[in-house]
Amino acid sequence: MTHRAVAATTGAPIAQATVEAFEAGLLGALIRPGDDVYEEARKLWNGVFDRRPALVARCAGTADVVSAVRFARDSGLPVAVRGGGHSFPGHSVCDGGLVIDLSAMRGVRVDPAARTARAQAGVKWIELDHETQAFGLATTGGTVSDTGIAGLTLGGGLGWLSSKHGLTVDNLASADVVLADGRFVTASAEENEDLFWALRGGGGNFGVVTSFEYRLHPVGPAILGGMVAYPLARVREVLAFYRDFSKTAPDELTVYAALVDPPGGDTVVALFCCYSGPVDKGEALVRPLRRLAGPVQDALGPMPYVAQQRIFDGGFPAGSFYYTKADFLGDLTAGAIDVFAEYASRKPSPLSGVLIQTVCGAASRVPPDATAFAHRALPYAPVIVSQWRDRADAEKNVRWARDLWQALRPFAGRGVYVNDLSHDDVDRVRDAYGTSYDRLAALKKQYDPENLFRLNANIPPAG
Ligand SMILES: Cc1cc2nc3c(=O)[nH]c(=O)nc-3n(C[C@H](O)[C@H](O)[C@H](O)COP(=O)(O)OP(=O)(O)OC[C@H]3O[C@@H](n4cnc5c(N)ncnc54)[C@H](O)[C@@H]3O)c2cc1C
Repeated sequence: MTHRAVAATTGAPIAQATVEAFEAGLLGALIRPGDDVYEEARKLWNGVFDRRPALVARCAGTADVVSAVRFARDSGLPVAVRGGGHSFPGHSVCDGGLVIDLSAMRGVRVDPAARTARAQAGVKWIELDHETQAFGLATTGGTVSDTGIAGLTLGGGLGWLSSKHGLTVDNLASADVVLADGRFVTASAEENEDLFWALRGGGGNFGVVTSFEYRLHPVGPAILGGMVAYPLARVREVLAFYRDFSKTAPDELTVYAALVDPPGGDTVVALFCCYSGPVDKGEALVRPLRRLAGPVQDALGPMPYVAQQRIFDGGFPAGSFYYTKADFLGDLTAGAIDVFAEYASRKPSPLSGVLIQTVCGAASRVPPDATAFAHRALPYAPVIVSQWRDRADAEKNVRWARDLWQALRPFAGRGVYVNDLSHDDVDRVRDAYGTSYDRLAALKKQYDPENLFRLNANIPPAG
C-alpha cells in the first residue's frame, strides 16, 4: 500500500523508508489517513476541531513513546500529545504532524497498603476511580468520568475532594517522563525535583508523561452527594447563600454552583455537593443547602463516590461543539452574581451553562510556589461552557460566552485555570501560570529548548 507523503514543520518531505523504520520499531499501531481507524483516531472530545494528522502513533507503552519522541525530534515533525483527548482548545490532535496517542496505555496498579496508585497516561478518571474504590480509596480527580487523568493532572486538577485532600497535583507522588531529547526520567520530591515542580501545573510543556503515581485517601465507598436545584428566578438569593455557605463549609464538603438546564426543563441554579466524611455526620451539614424555599429538584443523599464522579457525565457528550471562558474570582460579589443572573437568562443554547468550581480548604492552604499551580488564593473558579450541536450555531454561542466573560471582568482576579483556557486565549497563557511563569520558562529552556512540545498552553523557552 502506498502512503501519503509526510512533511516536517519546514515542509521538507520525510522519506517513506524513515517512516517505515519508525513503524517497524513500534509495538503499537502507526495510523495513517485512509486506515480504518484513522477517523476515530483523529477525533477529539470537542467537535469544533477537525484536524488531520499525518501520523498517529498509538503507543503500547513507554518504549513506543521514546521512539515517537525521537522520531518527531529527528524528523522535525510537529507533535501533539494525546491523553484523554478532552482538551477544550483541542491541543491533543494536530494538522499534518504526529500525534503521540497514549489512549492504549490504560494500566492501573493500586497498592492498598501504601495507599498509592500508579496509572498509565491514557487512563480516564472512570478507570482510576474504579480501581482505587475497590479498596475504599481515591485521589482528587475530575468531575466528568471520561476525562483523561493526564491533561487534568498536569494542569492542576480541581475536583470533589480538593477541599479535603488538595488538588490532583497536590496528590502526585511521582511521574515517569520521556523528555524532548528522548531520555526517560522519573520526577518526584527526591529526583528531578525542579521537573516535578513544573509538572504539577505547568501543563504538557516539559515532556510526555507515561505514568503518574498518586497518593490515595480513604473515601466512601458511600459519600453524601448530589444536588438541589432552584428556579432561575431565585438565582441572586441562591448564589449569595452559596457564597456564604462555601466560605464556612468544612474541608470534607465541596460545593459547586451551576447555572444549567436539566433535560427538557427550564434553566435552574443548582448546588452540587460532595461530603466525603461520615455520611451520617454529613446530613446535618448539607441540610442548609435544601432549606431555601421551593427547590425544583432535591437529589441530595448518600451515593457511591463513583456515582458522584459521574454526576456531570450526561451534560458533556463527546462530539458536541464546545467553547469555554474561565476566570478566578476572589469573591462572589453582588455585581458578579448580577452578571451570572443576567446571562443565564439568555443562553442561546439549553446545553450551555456555567459551573462555579472552588479552590478552598486544603487546596488553598498549599503555598502558591510549592507547585507550579499558583492560584491558591482565589476561591471561585467559574467556567463558562457553551455547547451546541449544529456547526452553524457557533457564532451566537461563542458570543454568549465571550460577552458573559467580558461582563465578569470587573469582578475577576488575575489568572485563569490553565485547563479551562480556550483556543483564542493565547494572550492569557502567562496569567494562567501566574507567578510560576518565569520559573517555568527557565525550566522549559532546560528540558525542551527547541519547544518540541508546543501544542499546549505553551511556555516558550526563556531565561
Ligand atoms: C467535560 C470536561 C470536564 C472537565 N472537568 C474538569 C474537572 O472537574 N477538573 C479539572 O481540573 N479539569 C476539568 N476539565 C479540564 C481538563 O482538566 C482538561 O480538559 C484536561 O486537559 C483534560 O485532559 P485529557 O488528558 O483528557 O486531555 P488531552 O486533550 O489528551 O490533553 C490536554 C493537554 O495535555 C497534554 N497532555 C495530555 N497527556 C499528556 C501526557 N501524558 N504528557 C504530556 N502532556 C500531555 C496535551 O498535549 C494537551 O496539551 C474538564 C474538561 C472537560 C472537557
